[in-house]
Amino acid sequence: MNFLESNMRRLTKIVCTLGPSSASYEDMKKLALSGMNVARINVSHGTRESQKELIANIQKINKEENLCIAILIDTRGAEIRTGDVQDPIEISKDEEVLFAPTTLEENIGTNRKIIFVGYDGFSADVRETSIILIDNGEMSFKIITIESNGSVVAKAEQSGLIGSRRHINLPGADIDLPSITEKDWDDIAFAAENDIDFVALSFIRNEEEVIEVRNLINEKNSNIQIITKIETQKAVKNISEIIDASDGIMVARGDLGAEVPYEYLPSIQDEIVTKCRDAGKPVIVATHMLESMIEHPIPTRAEVTDVAHAAMERTDATMLSGETANGKHPTVAIDSMDRILRAAETQLSRYPLEDVGIRNESEARAESAVSLSKSSNATAIMVVTRSGQMARLVSKFRPKVPIIPIVPNESIQRKMQLLYGAFPLLISFGEIEDTAHIAISKAKKEGLVSSGDTVVLVSDTRTKGEAVTSIQIRNIE
Ligand code: PEP
Repeated sequence: MNFLESNMRRLTKIVCTLGPSSASYEDMKKLALSGMNVARINVSHGTRESQKELIANIQKINKEENLCIAILIDTRGAEIRTGDVQDPIEISKDEEVLFAPTTLEENIGTNRKIIFVGYDGFSADVRETSIILIDNGEMSFKIITIESNGSVVAKAEQSGLIGSRRHINLPGADIDLPSITEKDWDDIAFAAENDIDFVALSFIRNEEEVIEVRNLINEKNSNIQIITKIETQKAVKNISEIIDASDGIMVARGDLGAEVPYEYLPSIQDEIVTKCRDAGKPVIVATHMLESMIEHPIPTRAEVTDVAHAAMERTDATMLSGETANGKHPTVAIDSMDRILRAAETQLSRYPLEDVGIRNESEARAESAVSLSKSSNATAIMVVTRSGQMARLVSKFRPKVPIIPIVPNESIQRKMQLLYGAFPLLISFGEIEDTAHIAISKAKKEGLVSSGDTVVLVSDTRTKGEAVTSIQIRNIE
């Protein structure tokens, strides 16, 4: 093992969830300087004011520290929750309880303890499953009977406490709620109107739902990108169409591990990552990556292996959730993730990837640039790209060396932060050769390339008045 090589730039990106442990300007800055590439704001929590404050802090850090951290707004989606309770309900193993819609609150007669559910269609949806899970499976209830008044008798499989507004999963059931709620539409519009980079959609089941959101974004003339969270059985079934309709994917392992038997999670994760790579769409592996670090300053060995596995399968990004949102050691958690990813990346040659398909002429060019980088021993691939698309295609072929997208505006620069191996630089575009020249000097100044290096440069050029793509080898002076 060559430990020295881990001084290389990290190719796998890190998404950090913001929350009480990282909301202040100073705490957020620590994450930023420790390598956060994308800041995730979960709008299930907080007020619009507090969310705006988080956004303003990131923008200020970007300006002051000359960084380009992207922002991802994660919507709540159609989730089912238990009702509010004054004191947590104490449940014993094998106890039969009643799940009832809150609309029955006034006139329900039972000796059983009641768990209220804020959703009238509950008893109909429950028919499609045999089990009710609370908090992603922390507690489970076997369904005994469904009563004609819309309540459900279920038997606890463990003892435990149920507090207010606990998250409910009905594994395999097709919830009869629209995936995108009124609150989500409002949050998506807010994100699109405020120059946010990514919006994550929860509990999506099919491509039509993604297309509906795309229509709203287009109406708003926004270039925000859609990251679809895969967390239902339906989404797994419709994965190819969902990838096609989305700009990127999140493997949302928290809910997904409750919706499918968790022993299938590793193979589903691998399949989604491979499919996204093949489609040239960025993919985030999320949830429980360093979960024990919410409490402890050192990860479990199993967590280390999980993060390393994601790097070895060349996912675009790994995500921290509670670790940075409400954990005791947010900076230690991102440092650990950074160290694990870097170490795994020194070993990539031992885990060769299967070839991904070349689907069109642009992809053929991108693949040629990556091949050329190998045969010429280049230290980087520079890609002059107005929209970022060519850099996305180069990233699809997972070069071993950094990709340096040269882009003309900050919004595109931030969107490149989610891409495997991309270190985007902002440059005002001019004549093609001038742009290349300035890009090379900037890359040198940023320490991305040095004198004596060979780089592959992908850019458009003009031949007889027509734009054509050129792939060149340049030696850095
Ligand atoms: C998940 O379920 O893994 C996830 C990322 O979703 P959330 O944290 O929004 O529940």
